[in-house]
Amino acid sequence: MKPLSKKATAIAPSSTLAINALANQLIKEGKNILKFGTGEPDFNPTDAVKEAAIKAVKENNSRYTAASGLPELKQAFSDKLKEENNLDYSTKQIIVSNGAKHSLMNVMQALLNEDDEVIVPRPAWVTFKEQVQLVGGVVKWVDTDENFKLHADEVEKAVSEKTKAIIINSPCNPTGAVFEENEIKKIIDLAVENDFYIVSDECYEHFVYNGKFKSIAAFSKEAYERTLTVNAASKTYAITGWRIGFTAGPENIIKTMANIQSHITSNPCNIAQMAVVEALRGNQDSVKKMVKEFNERREYTIKHLNEIKGFDCPTPEGAFYAFPRVNELYKGDIKNSADLCSFLLKEAEVALVPGDGFEADDCIRFSYASSMDDIKEGIERIKTAVEKI
Ligand code: PLP
Repeated sequence: MKPLSKKATAIAPSSTLAINALANQLIKEGKNILKFGTGEPDFNPTDAVKEAAIKAVKENNSRYTAASGLPELKQAFSDKLKEENNLDYSTKQIIVSNGAKHSLMNVMQALLNEDDEVIVPRPAWVTFKEQVQLVGGVVKWVDTDENFKLHADEVEKAVSEKTKAIIINSPCNPTGAVFEENEIKKIIDLAVENDFYIVSDECYEHFVYNGKFKSIAAFSKEAYERTLTVNAASKTYAITGWRIGFTAGPENIIKTMANIQSHITSNPCNIAQMAVVEALRGNQDSVKKMVKEFNERREYTIKHLNEIKGFDCPTPEGAFYAFPRVNELYKGDIKNSADLCSFLLKEAEVALVPGDGFEADDCIRFSYASSMDDIKEGIERIKTAVEKI
């Protein structure tokens, strides 16, 4: 048989899979595993949003919509961008996709030619690298500092004639870091001087605990002209499974993305789109409540993780992840983040995500999108288990 696609077979399996499989097997065996691996809020959508989805079904919204999304949803995203982000995007500058992951893949397909370089700060969300490589691009890693903050002078070192784009994800998954505005300004200057695009993944914009979030496209006219703003309803409205994300940007790029989407998936789910119109137009109190709750969990989690032997955890200013450095614990049979997560799963019955998939094998990711009771119990269990190393 002839070999499969080189690009497809080069995709790394998700680093969380092995640990998840083991966690699920242990749960089946009756173990009380506490899961801190999830990348989604443990909240439910509001009744109003659920009702809107039910209404959409009952009113027979069962057909295709425009491939790039329902006009009323694009308008609702346009209004959101104006009100929350001080950004003017017409509906022609917006495309709705099947979650931010799909939005990002469309962006990569629209921007990249073979061997184009994309600068990605690390630690980084696992999918960025795979998407860039899948469309023939090359990832240029840039290291962040000890608090996981990005510095423009490090970015500058990675810029070359082949640089096509930089991906900025602030607040960041997995570190929770929020990049400093003065560094973002300098990165925008670099993008203008060297003519590359900025892909700004703003999925965690509402999960900022100190200060106010600022969209990269809102920094200046120059930033606006070369930024693709990617965002989603997934985390904000606790509807990760409903799959609604969007991109706002220059009209020619959005049009190209719409052409791609029209041949690959067509429109995102009609019913989910209708429900997200309600989520955007309706009362936003549930978002505020969730963020307040996450902030309390964040404060507890960071304080107590830092009391564990061998854990060193910078305070994240956003998202809902703690990303402690734990490499002091790599001894004997525990050689890396995957080994430590396997050890903690067996010994403490807690599921965490190894940092290696995020390009940071010295760290592990702890999602505090779990109940406060589970967080308290989980941290105690980790503390006791780590004493045995
Ligand atoms: N971008 C980042 C940084 C994420 O962490 C995630 C999900 O975990 C996504 C994008 C994907 O979001 P969606 O579920 O809307 O596809």
